[in-house]
Amino acid sequence: MRTELVGAGVMLGLAGLALAQPKDVQPPRDSLMCVLPPQDVPEGLWNANLWPGGIIPYTVDAAVTQQNRDRLRAAMDELESVCGVRFVPRTNQTNYVNVRNGTSNSSSVGMIGGQQTLTMVSWHVHYIIVHELMHAMGVWHEQQRADRDQYVFINFANMQSGYEGNFTIRPNASPHGPFDFESVMMYDDCSFSLCCAAGSTCGCPFSCATIQALPAYSQYQNVMGNRSYMGQGDRNSLVSRYGQPPAACYANCDGSTGNPLLTSNDFQCFLNRFAAADPYANCDGSTGSPSLTANDFQCYLNSFAAGCT
Ligand SMILES: [Zn+2]
Repeated sequence: MRTELVGAGVMLGLAGLALAQPKDVQPPRDSLMCVLPPQDVPEGLWNANLWPGGIIPYTVDAAVTQQNRDRLRAAMDELESVCGVRFVPRTNQTNYVNVRNGTSNSSSVGMIGGQQTLTMVSWHVHYIIVHELMHAMGVWHEQQRADRDQYVFINFANMQSGYEGNFTIRPNASPHGPFDFESVMMYDDCSFSLCCAAGSTCGCPFSCATIQALPAYSQYQNVMGNRSYMGQGDRNSLVSRYGQPPAACYANCDGSTGNPLLTSNDFQCFLNRFAAADPYANCDGSTGSPSLTANDFQCYLNSFAAGCT
């Protein structure tokens, strides 16, 4: 089992302004680091540890507030709109993501088998949640790509001792598309800099940066560490793994497709349909329980979504 700590700093604010703004007037960064836990998966499998069918069961620890549950769901919703994954509340699946509060933001990369933990502390930053969920979906940090040296210089002389492994190239880290400085999976340029606090990132001058864009790409120096939007590379990379999202699966129970939101009317309509067949029918065909479960509801939704075109 390998153990590694991998950090990613955070640059808050309006990404569209990042190119034009000098660093000293950029919004403050979040110094909290993204940490990847030990990953007991052979490197050769990194491209294979995707979630079958794009279905990602999850649980949320009881200590997570409703506000943060809503934030988590919003991040999941965005990812579901980008590619063919669906985050579903776990019922009895063996492999699932357990989301809980932590002292860092962290996630295993891809489906590793059994319960895997995703911890969040930066709940207030939507794209940090997205970042961690993308790890869980199988995406490594952008600067670990095999081609990164064509775009950036990793300045080890500026690096805090003990963090060098965070900049190790992973041949399969992000194999799709061109290098994406804007990626939400890209470190910011001061990660683990000697000019920042131990184990952290901060705003730092170019001379202190641990990741220095090569001259041909200097306009991206301040873009690295974007946590304000998903880059096109992020989107393409996810689609390459999980396919396109089921774009038209917004069928309502009355047969219309205009509204992407499932309403209580739709739910009642589903219930009526199934009740008409058997008042206690479960979606799996059993009839033993009079109680409608979340599993039944999800199953109903799946059966209707399957009819979408
Ligand atoms: Zn990360």
